Amino acid sequence: AHSVITIDGPAASGKSSIARLVAQRLGRTYVNTGNMYRAVTWAVLQAGVDPQDADAVRAFATGMVLESPVVDGKTQVCISGRTPTDADLNSDPVNRAVSFVARVDEVRNRLVADQRALAATGPLVMEGRDIGSVVFPDSPNKIYIDASEEVRASRRGAQGHADQIAERDRIDKQRKNSPLVIPAGATVIDNSHITLDQAVEQVIAALHL
Ligand code: C5P
Repeated sequence: AHSVITIDGPAASGKSSIARLVAQRLGRTYVNTGNMYRAVTWAVLQAGVDPQDADAVRAFATGMVLESPVVDGKTQVCISGRTPTDADLNSDPVNRAVSFVARVDEVRNRLVADQRALAATGPLVMEGRDIGSVVFPDSPNKIYIDASEEVRASRRGAQGHADQIAERDRIDKQRKNSPLVIPAGATVIDNSHITLDQAVEQVIAALHL
């Protein structure tokens, strides 16, 4: 398998923008694993399954077919033959339900297996909550992007959905399986008071390539 640069952190830390630019700079494929959890959640809602009913979500996850084709340098998510749009993935109902779906072990096991399989296709930058801690714990290149509560709150405000994001963080940090943590050996970058370019430079300076 190729090496994977892992980038984890809470919502509204700025990790997605940073990860996308790092991948571009290094000519690597960018994988946003949040979109994989969002796609499953979208499909759960489309199927009329209650996202808080873990047994029903588990049953649904067993039958789903997930593919992650690379389009324009980043992975898309295709679920049982359908590709949700960015608007679908970032809709209010998905925002509200995704952390419940992401608590279900079967969902995580399926997605983690797919994420590991992607590493066979080429060098990646993979972004999420558990990429350095669980998916690729042996990666020599782990980054954790943090930002102060104040800065994250104001970014949340700018993105709308402040309450939804705070609630997701709470569930993501408290869940028993693969909670959001700083992975062992990760370089922590505080993105509170630096520009996007500076954050990208700090990530690249921390890598052992
Ligand atoms: O990154 P994003 O905010 O789009 O992720 C949406 C949700 O997906 C998170 O709040 C979390 O519940 C879940 N997630 C996860 N593990 C990952 C990536 C995302 O549990 N590696």
